[in-house]
Amino acid sequence: METKHADFDILEALQRIRAVVRSLPPAALFQLAEEGFRTPFELLVACIISVRTRDEVTVPTARRLFARARTPQEFAALDPNELARLLRPATFAQVKAQNLMVIAHRLLVEQNGTLPCNEEFLRSLPGVGPKCTNLVLGIACGIPRVAVDVHVHRIVNRWGYVHTRTPEQTMQALEQKLPQQYWVELNRLLVPFGKHVCTGIAPRCSTCVLADLCPRIGVTHHR
Ligand code: SF4
Repeated sequence: METKHADFDILEALQRIRAVVRSLPPAALFQLAEEGFRTPFELLVACIISVRTRDEVTVPTARRLFARARTPQEFAALDPNELARLLRPATFAQVKAQNLMVIAHRLLVEQNGTLPCNEEFLRSLPGVGPKCTNLVLGIACGIPRVAVDVHVHRIVNRWGYVHTRTPEQTMQALEQKLPQQYWVELNRLLVPFGKHVCTGIAPRCSTCVLADLCPRIGVTHHR
């Protein structure tokens, strides 16, 4: 199984996808970073908002929240109910508000009010999993990490580039196999590509720029 598609040319694939995504809306965190919300804390807040929430909701919610508060100090000073209200278009607003309050207070008490670029500390925060940790480290801290969400996980398995069951396994497999210079860019490219081309249900294989490269593993119906 591994050898059959082991020669999938991922560098050629990424090169083609770069051209495709130029005309697509960027993934939420990359969009917000481009708009200037790129401190580790801001990107962590944005990633927490984005959990189980569509990018179309995440981006305006984050903008509205950052207009009110952008630092741990400003978050800690918010009324928790107001924070929940500001988050409300996103899913699980109450839980996310509670987690953000805990995070803001921990940063004030333990880290002089600044989120450190430290994987262990990030993973110790409530509501922060490997995807958000790696996005913060990769985008805000310049520390290469592969951030794997459902799109990245699905697509690299369809390519046969990895053979994994969970996003965690995919992250580990990619960090062993993919040259490090592509680790952060992979998420930036595959999230919009996965939303608009290589979709979860019925991917657009007939017009896909990778049609001649891709073994389409596990794809039963496509457009
Ligand atoms: S050919 Fe189909 S399965 Fe392969 S990357 Fe394109 S849309 Fe996805």
